[in-house]
Amino acid sequence: ATPMSIMTATGRGAQAGVLIKNAEALELFEKVDTLIVDKTGTLTEGKPKLVAVLPEVGHDEAEVLRLAASLERGSEHPLAEAIVRGAVERNVNMTDATDFEAVTGKGVKGKVDGRSVALGNLALISDMGLDGGDLAVKANARRDAGETVMFVVLDDAVAGLVSVADPVKETTREALKALCMLGFRIIMATGDNERTAKAIGAQLGIDEIRADVLPEDKARIIKELQAQGRKVAMAGDGVNDAPALAQADVGIAMGTGADVAIESAGITLVKGNLDGIVRARRLARATMGNIR
Ligand code: ADP
Ligand code: MG
Repeated sequence: ATPMSIMTATGRGAQAGVLIKNAEALELFEKVDTLIVDKTGTLTEGKPKLVAVLPEVGHDEAEVLRLAASLERGSEHPLAEAIVRGAVERNVNMTDATDFEAVTGKGVKGKVDGRSVALGNLALISDMGLDGGDLAVKANARRDAGETVMFVVLDDAVAGLVSVADPVKETTREALKALCMLGFRIIMATGDNERTAKAIGAQLGIDEIRADVLPEDKARIIKELQAQGRKVAMAGDGVNDAPALAQADVGIAMGTGADVAIESAGITLVKGNLDGIVRARRLARATMGNIR
């Protein structure tokens, strides 16, 4: 492409909130055939809300929430924010946790009032030799509604669960439809549970889903697709998406997301809406079409 045509394309992109880092990103994006999308914050609004607290038999709802929120005050994860906000709204008094530890892709651990508390997904409690017990059926019903369920462990036993909902962005559905029509193969990759991911996928018509993936898995999935000859773009917003954004032929960051994600990306969608990808593709095609 001529420097002039590239400047025109990046200028038009910028006006529409699609920031293209350089000529290379534009050229590569024209060749992309596979689009990996993160779920939380990319397909969804990324502003999860606490929607349920279910105590295990013998435990109290407010106490389960107090333990969860006290621990999550030490975390910057969007799920943590939802739980702390939910506790504040319900007038639950939190205390300061000690020995706080984040377990990547799984949850958090620490001590509340000197007692061991853990909060996280099935992988976290499995590592502790626990399962959902009596709450397993209720947990699955919530996941089937697209919610993210986290178990609260107190002194080596499950004390309850908290469930969080994160609605799909208003623009996501239409954007995915348009991306399908442009010929992209679309795959959702998420650290969230498979049932939750499938429920969200069903709402959006995404049938290829890789769930329960750790951040390094997202980069590995991309590498494998590239080894099969695929040209891969990855859209994500989180700190944990950065390795995958860097591995992709073209990384696409949500402008509403983490700085490190934006730094790792070739394209940034200022408004954080996937319809920016449709525009980027049209610009890439128009520009590259000019020079062939
Ligand atoms: P995502 O790809 O959805 O952004 P993450 O890798 O950040 O996922 O997290 C994967 C899963 O690990 C979450 O769905 C949640 O169940 C659990 N998890 C991670 N961090 C926390 C936390 N601070 N509190 C509770 N659960 C967490
Ligand atoms: Mg995310």
